[in-house]
Amino acid sequence: MMRQYELVERVQRYKPDVNEALLNKAYVYAMQKHGHQRRASGDPYFSHPLEVAAILTDMHLDEATIAVALLHDTIEDTSATRAEIDELFGPDIGKLVDGLTKLKRLDLVSKKAHQAENLRKLLLAISEDVRVLLVKLADRLHNMRTLDHVPEAKRLRIAEETMEIYAPLAGRMGMQDMREELEELAFRYINPEAFRAVTERLAEFFERNRGVIKAIEEALSHLFAEHHIKATVKSRQKKPWSVFRKMETKALSFEQLSDIFGFRVLVDTVEDCYRALGVIHATWSMVPGRFKDYISTPKQNDYRSIHTTIVGPSRQRVELQIRTFEMHRIAEYGVAAHSIYKDLGGKVNGADHRISRDTNAYAWLRRTIEALSEGDTPEDFLENTKLELFQDQVFCFTPKGQLIALPRGATPIDFAYAVHTDVGDTCVGAKVNGRIMPLMTELKNGDEVEIVRSKAQVPPAAWESVVVTGKARAAIRRATRNAIRKQYSGLGARILERAFDRAGKTFSRDALKPILHRLGRQDVEDVLAAVGRGELSSQDVVRAVFPDYKDERVTQAPKEREEGWFNLRNAAGMLFQIPGRSSRKAKRAKGGEQAKETNGHGALPIRGVSGDLPVRFAPEGAVPGDRIVGILHPGSGIIIYPIQSPALTAFDDQPERWIDVRWDIDEHMKERFPVRLSVTAINEPGSLAEIAQLIAANDANIHSLSMERTAPDFTEMLFDLQVWDLKHLNRLVSQLKESNCVSDAHRVNG
Ligand code: MN
Repeated sequence: MMRQYELVERVQRYKPDVNEALLNKAYVYAMQKHGHQRRASGDPYFSHPLEVAAILTDMHLDEATIAVALLHDTIEDTSATRAEIDELFGPDIGKLVDGLTKLKRLDLVSKKAHQAENLRKLLLAISEDVRVLLVKLADRLHNMRTLDHVPEAKRLRIAEETMEIYAPLAGRMGMQDMREELEELAFRYINPEAFRAVTERLAEFFERNRGVIKAIEEALSHLFAEHHIKATVKSRQKKPWSVFRKMETKALSFEQLSDIFGFRVLVDTVEDCYRALGVIHATWSMVPGRFKDYISTPKQNDYRSIHTTIVGPSRQRVELQIRTFEMHRIAEYGVAAHSIYKDLGGKVNGADHRISRDTNAYAWLRRTIEALSEGDTPEDFLENTKLELFQDQVFCFTPKGQLIALPRGATPIDFAYAVHTDVGDTCVGAKVNGRIMPLMTELKNGDEVEIVRSKAQVPPAAWESVVVTGKARAAIRRATRNAIRKQYSGLGARILERAFDRAGKTFSRDALKPILHRLGRQDVEDVLAAVGRGELSSQDVVRAVFPDYKDERVTQAPKEREEGWFNLRNAAGMLFQIPGRSSRKAKRAKGGEQAKETNGHGALPIRGVSGDLPVRFAPEGAVPGDRIVGILHPGSGIIIYPIQSPALTAFDDQPERWIDVRWDIDEHMKERFPVRLSVTAINEPGSLAEIAQLIAANDANIHSLSMERTAPDFTEMLFDLQVWDLKHLNRLVSQLKESNCVSDAHRVNG
């Protein structure tokens, strides 16, 4: 295991002014916290964060990143807390360690291929800081290097995850070394036979070509020396995974591969790159179509190099890459290389460093490089490098670790519906990161969301305007429709029960099943809802079930739509008494109140009218408690309306006809006032009686009544009543609404 001073020395080699105290403190703290913990290999656990730190020193990262590497597993795996780390190392390092703790949850997520892209995005989105990703990648690299000790089943999962997520991520960050090593390690576990076969073929190939490779290397070095170009020539061997992938994707045999080895020419300056290229092309002939200048046109991941293929000294094809040392470092370490070499800042905007303006997955890298050019120090660069990718999405977890990708602005309701429609429909509350939060809460990246459910729940229609996902919106609409349908089917069941009762039969839902096709309905609920909505008559249902049944009332009815106005005495005279002399007599006998005729041309208890003009109420009436207004009708007098009456709009542009009036009620004077009520009743014998009885019991007089059948099982009744005042009226309306045979009651124009 690396000693404390060895680690400090490693950093000192590239950063002489290193903050030793910070490194020492992190080393001791992590070592103490991990204590006697062991890895699967049996090694002390602390060897792992130490190795991760070592990998990052190879990439020449700053001491804050190295300290974070040492601490990266402490919050998750030891008694350490974020607060403690904040206190000891400062909130900046605390935040980075916390970021890694969040990423660690990813390791718990069940790995499915289709989640790979989301996971990669999540990594970027919740890392927020490039350093978190760098430590995460180093962490993964060390875990891959020691994967042999992990149980076999787990091994494959980790290798696949590395291949699908971490290796491409390293590639996108421009870290080709890291990408290659991760790929090779993963390849070894994912496809051991192929790995072994390709590795053996490669070893054989290099054994055979060792002399050739050496000869080319020497010829190149000699050529550059001759032309006074300071250059380093390195042979480069293709890695097993890239050989295998090329054979697979291009369906080539090993022998057909032409780029199994190549050479890198590293020089000091851009000018030297082109000079080197010149002497190479002047000495050997180039293979047409293989020349690429990524120096004048860098790749989108910031890769810069000149590629060419020549027919070499011993007549075979030789691939060459020509670049500066600095370009080479960036090609190998990517973002990590930028982080320490602040000198690059000036060159980023240089003419030779045009970066594609394309918006794509590499856009964020461009931003990190731009941030670098703006910052004064490498530290600034790292701190300003917020990963702003995927700002339109948030990624959240279920308590079991399933990853749910949602659009930004999504709420726990959206989350619930994204998990499953049933979960959304029964959602009544949510815990976000263990705390109960309002369902309107906007979710953030990395939130763990637990949905609190209740079977009794019906999603409120108002949710529709809260959610942002189409899935949630559609499901809420569907649930609302179903709830309304349920209300109608409940009403329909009530109607049918009574209709069957009347026919001397017993109603059951099962009885409806055989006749569904005859009624043209899908299921029993459908029939009930149709009856409830008035689309289907209860009599039709009864007759469908009992074809022999004859309803006498039905045979007597001349037509489906009844005549508009009924004479109350004729229609239901036997059921109740209409107001009139007999009624007044009864009242007098009972309470002795004087019911004065108010609906005529007599004196109304209204102030504000003068002279001899006759005053009367509008047909819909008005009662004390209403705010009222008078409208002058030349030749016929003044008509009193409640202020809310829609009839008044007819006089809106004739202000001269409006007369301010108010009630003039004498406390001792008992008088009733006219009002019109609309009552929608369920059609069945006794309904009218029940309603009339209710009105009478509430001490209101019925002056007249009209009925209209609005649907097979519903009748709208218009009552002209006489009541004491608004309070009296309101009590009556609410009692009517309560009645079993009433589906709606309201004041007309009131
Ligand atoms: Mn770790």
